[in-house]
Amino acid sequence: MPAIKKWTPNELRKLETLYSTEPSFEDVLAAFPERTENAVRIKASRMGLRRPLPTIELHQLKNVIITQDTKQGSSGYMFRCNNCNKWIQVEHETVENNKPIVCKNCGVVCYFT
Ligand SMILES: [Zn+2]
Repeated sequence: MPAIKKWTPNELRKLETLYSTEPSFEDVLAAFPERTENAVRIKASRMGLRRPLPTIELHQLKNVIITQDTKQGSSGYMFRCNNCNKWIQVEHETVENNKPIVCKNCGVVCYFT
């Protein structure tokens, strides 16, 4: 087993900034040529970092609205099914990881992009 290379303070700073602001995950990885994709993902998740939301792209879509829960201070998304035109509530995590959205009304699978 290869020795695990310790993250330097410099790398951690870079990860913190890039991971939460850089829209392209490929570009984040490119900044850490000596680390695997998994290593970067795991480290970022342990640091509690979140990927930036694809806000620009989402705003361009007519079938997406961003909702704000002021009590909890969290935001979410409503997505309109391509098939039945019903609005579906979508979790942050689904959007961030670009997971497929299954319509609760008709069962059709939709994607943001
Ligand atoms: Zn539907």
